[in-house]
Amino acid sequence: MMNVPQIFASDVFNCQVMQERLPKEIYKSLVKTIRFGHPLDMSVANVVANAMKDWAVEKGATHFTHWFQPMTGITAEKHDSFISPTKDGKVIMEFSGKELVMGEPDASSFPSGGVRATFEARGYTAWDPTSFAFVKDGTLYIPTAFFSYSGEVLDKKTPLLKSMEALNKEALRILRLFGNTTAQRVIAQVGAEQEYFLIDRAVYEKRKDLIFTGRTLFGAKAPKGQELEDHYFCPIKPRVSAFMKELDEELWRYGILAKTKHNEVAPAQHELAPIFTSINVASDQNQLMMEIMKEVASRHGLVCLLHEKPFEGINGSGKHNNWSMGTDTGLNLLDPGTTPAENGQFMLFLMAVIKAVNDHQDLLRLSVASAGNDHRLGANEAPPAIVSVFVGEELEAILAALEKEETYKGSDRKVMKLGVDALPVIPKDTTDRNRTSPFAFTGNKFEFRMVGSSFSLAGPNITINAIVADTLRQFADELEKAPDFTAALHALVVRTIRENKRIIFNGNNYSPEWTEEAARRGLCNLKNAAEALPHFADEKNIALFERMKVFTAREVVTRTEIMLENYSKVLGIEGLTMLDMARRDIFPAVSGYVRELAKTAADVKAALPGAETPAEEETARQLLALNTEIAAKAKELEALLSEAQTVSETAAQATFFAEKVLPVMQQLRSAADEAESLTDEKAWPFPTYGDLLFSVT
Ligand code: ADP
Ligand code: MG
Repeated sequence: MMNVPQIFASDVFNCQVMQERLPKEIYKSLVKTIRFGHPLDMSVANVVANAMKDWAVEKGATHFTHWFQPMTGITAEKHDSFISPTKDGKVIMEFSGKELVMGEPDASSFPSGGVRATFEARGYTAWDPTSFAFVKDGTLYIPTAFFSYSGEVLDKKTPLLKSMEALNKEALRILRLFGNTTAQRVIAQVGAEQEYFLIDRAVYEKRKDLIFTGRTLFGAKAPKGQELEDHYFCPIKPRVSAFMKELDEELWRYGILAKTKHNEVAPAQHELAPIFTSINVASDQNQLMMEIMKEVASRHGLVCLLHEKPFEGINGSGKHNNWSMGTDTGLNLLDPGTTPAENGQFMLFLMAVIKAVNDHQDLLRLSVASAGNDHRLGANEAPPAIVSVFVGEELEAILAALEKEETYKGSDRKVMKLGVDALPVIPKDTTDRNRTSPFAFTGNKFEFRMVGSSFSLAGPNITINAIVADTLRQFADELEKAPDFTAALHALVVRTIRENKRIIFNGNNYSPEWTEEAARRGLCNLKNAAEALPHFADEKNIALFERMKVFTAREVVTRTEIMLENYSKVLGIEGLTMLDMARRDIFPAVSGYVRELAKTAADVKAALPGAETPAEEETARQLLALNTEIAAKAKELEALLSEAQTVSETAAQATFFAEKVLPVMQQLRSAADEAESLTDEKAWPFPTYGDLLFSVT
């Protein structure tokens, strides 16, 4: 029997372990660093490092690593052993404060978007004490931030921490205006629902597209997909269940609050949701979780696919980002509350988020833009590329009544004054029904549904934190100056509703009418990543990030470059993989089968003169035409892929891939998929969609 409370966080050097193992004074000063970001003294670091090493060695560790999150979107680690030679030719296990606090991995092979000239190839990692160290597979993992010699940030964690700090600062200003003097910190927090696919390793290994790109580039639809909706929440198969159990246990060991698991809509698709926590921890833990999912799958003869759209024609995978702001005293600032004061405060924070989303639709859109997520956003299961906010009917009616200074049905037939009157109770269940909305208020949090399954939580949450912080700053500037706070609060909320209501949409986001309506409302519709990403470096966005001290102008520009380059590289790899599969597998298979059919047809005709034309002949002709198309499209794709390499400007290159290369990839796929549906299954070189999607029994 598994004792969950006992194993929970047993591989983590958390506060409890620190308290047990560190002298009182050292522990106190470390907590100050963890909670309030106070700098850490080297004498303290030395003691902490030694205690950490002793603890890790007891857990079987021989190495340590500075674990960081470069711009690749995944994590990086380089392992050093604790060994230190002694005079008598032996070794002892040592770990110094210096080694704990600072590392120096070679930065030259990580994406930097041109930050790194040769003289600054050195990169540094600095211990992030706000995220706990842990032991995994014989190594002590120390979460760190990663930056260059010249101080430029090279990772996803540092700006995330900075954005949380900006939100903390501005939200506290607002709280003080409401007379809250007890809260010391406002913490941005996230619960991320992680979707993924599980397929059998044996079929995976026969698909170059899955191996090289994480998604299928070819594949005719299986006769059965998700039409019957019989996979969602259905009983979990024993093999998947065994995987999930082992996964839960392992995640719990690392202190990850794995909570909910179930089957998702598409065949072979599943979901895992942990309980929400502060974003920096949630982000680290989500990275670790994705890695562990792959490892555990592999031990079960399975492969875990985290790509946003591994299979055409069925749902892709997202990472629903449930975001809220909480205080260190346990208040949720997006909870409506029950008293007039709580309601007024809630309305202000709610409107700050709504205004932030309206003012920065472009930033939210591009924070989830990637080659993989392009297949999902705008397709029929995910939110569209247009950002809007769902608030539910009740709240929308309240906002409308406030805006028009009208009576609201729940409020004793009088016009509500914020800060004076209580809002009617907003029932939670009416706020969570619309699953098509990209940004939905769900009772006490916002659910950003556009995030792709393979994304780091950092990018989207840096954006949400920064845009909300900047809006709160504007609100605080205005309200701090106001002679009558309650009147000013009411006026500000009413004005904000009026100016930002275009972003609120409670209807069906998948409908074509919404696309037209959104255009009439002037909402931004950035259709793909190539179109969206360059806006990161728009003047207004650079100004915002500089104001919030999240990114420097140069960091924004280099990050734009990195994301665009990544987009082009992913499409380049997909294009080459398609060429390889089309020319070396599909074309010969179809060709061989045509020959077989043609020979059969000829034999039949010779043996049975005067008989009807055999069906083999017609199929052979169809396949011959398709194979001609496959060869032609492959040639066209090859030429385009070479041409793409001559486009030197990154944004132009990404556009070239989106507009020129991708359509031809689609055409090549169509021809091949049609050929697949006419070819003898035994002659087809790859496992089919049916084999892949129903491989786990
Ligand atoms: P579902 O969306 O499937 O109905 P829930 O909305 O209950 O499920 O929860 C989904 C995720 O939202 C979970 O990770 C949960 O911990 C998280 N969550 C719940 N409350 C909050 C909150 N106040 N802030 C951030 N995340 C939250
Ligand atoms: Mg939810």
